[in-house]
Amino acid sequence: MIGAGHAGLAASRFLTSRSIDHVVLERGEVANSWRRERWDSLRLLTPNWLTRLPGCRYDGPEPDGFMATAEVVAFIARYATLARAPVRPHTTVTSVRRVDGGYHVATDGGTIASRGVVLASGACNQPSVPALRQAVPSSVESLTPFDYRNPGQLPDGGVLVVGASATGVQLADEIRRSGRRVILSVGEHVRLPRTYRGRDVLWWMDASGVWNQRYDELDDLQRARRLPSPQLVGTPERMTLDLNALTASGVELVGRLSAVRDGRALFSGGLRNQFALADLKMDRLLDTFDTWAENCAGDLDVGPSERFEPTRAPDKSRLHLDFVTGEIRAIVWATGFRPDYSWLHVPAVDPKGELRHDGGVVSDAPGLYALGLPVLRRRKSTFIHGIEDDAREVTEHLVNYLARGR
Ligand SMILES: Cc1cc2nc3c(=O)[nH]c(=O)nc-3n(C[C@H](O)[C@H](O)[C@H](O)COP(=O)(O)OP(=O)(O)OC[C@H]3O[C@@H](n4cnc5c(N)ncnc54)[C@H](O)[C@@H]3O)c2cc1C
Repeated sequence: MIGAGHAGLAASRFLTSRSIDHVVLERGEVANSWRRERWDSLRLLTPNWLTRLPGCRYDGPEPDGFMATAEVVAFIARYATLARAPVRPHTTVTSVRRVDGGYHVATDGGTIASRGVVLASGACNQPSVPALRQAVPSSVESLTPFDYRNPGQLPDGGVLVVGASATGVQLADEIRRSGRRVILSVGEHVRLPRTYRGRDVLWWMDASGVWNQRYDELDDLQRARRLPSPQLVGTPERMTLDLNALTASGVELVGRLSAVRDGRALFSGGLRNQFALADLKMDRLLDTFDTWAENCAGDLDVGPSERFEPTRAPDKSRLHLDFVTGEIRAIVWATGFRPDYSWLHVPAVDPKGELRHDGGVVSDAPGLYALGLPVLRRRKSTFIHGIEDDAREVTEHLVNYLARGR
């Protein structure tokens, strides 16, 4: 097993329950990405009641609250102890190669011969930043969500946040609240209200079965896997953090960043279309919830159906921004994350660095498996509560594979 995040630990628990000898190799400590790669104020956008792993769930006093990063670390560390996971911390895997009878796993602490390997090394190992970053003048500081900790570290002056998914809207909001001018560049995004018909919107995702949709039943799996994270934030007051909320707090919205040329950022037009599309998709999802409520909710206590104000487009959105004027002193690239498989030497990684797999089974490399990737086996695959079903099925496949080889 490579990685002692929640995915590796959940799979370890299933392997232990099947008496499969294994080790969990971790370059840092348990829950390393939550310890090292998150900004200070981050809270889960999934509520506590949803925070569960196989055989363990949140049992504290605030089921409707949202864990801060330190609480997530504590939750996962407690899980590692409970699962008695054989974690080998501070062990970085430097290469995985296929050899006769299995895999040769090289680490900075020696080598291991294994018949099977589970990649639970994470889907968000590095920020995904567009190449046009190179053209940004050096007078403007560039940060990724891995560098950003809080607004205090930014140079004085305005900030351009690129990307309006969960990370981008949360950082734009926090930086704006610190009193700075913020421009938010908006591309394709997923709009969601925090609560719907009196319940958390993620309750609806869970209860209606949308999150449970299987990868092999989706019309367009590739698209589902590329979908940005929803515009959600976890706050005690359960606030909705959509683009209307950001506009109301003084954030300026501009279109997708399309180029940086001669010291200027160029933005696409068509904000209005972008907004209309996200509103339409949100309404379709709410229709799905309504249909489920009518047919399946029975006596459940849910409020009446709701629809939300369309996203307000600015009368005129700017199409370019001059970096040399000093109006903007920093850019935060909230443009997504990607995995790092630079150490994986098997013919299963495509030229874009993505792993080819069928529901976590790497067909081009028998005995190799993955967990924790977007829509791996279900829509909920990358979320903490989503690992249980995936890890059970993937480890089941692995156990059968090992039995066949015996
Ligand atoms: C900003 C952000 C916010 C998120 N918010 C939520 C949320 O609110 N709710 C939710 O359910 N999910 C959330 N997620 C998604 C998801 O739960 C996390 O990404 C989670 O960390 C993924 O767990 P994992 O076990 O798959 O990977 P990780 O937690 O990334 O674990 C992978 C582990 O592998 C180790 N590793 C990697 N490479 C190597 C190597 N070569 N050798 C040895 N070890 C290695 C890493 O150190 C790490 O500990 C969020 C993700 C991000 C990025």
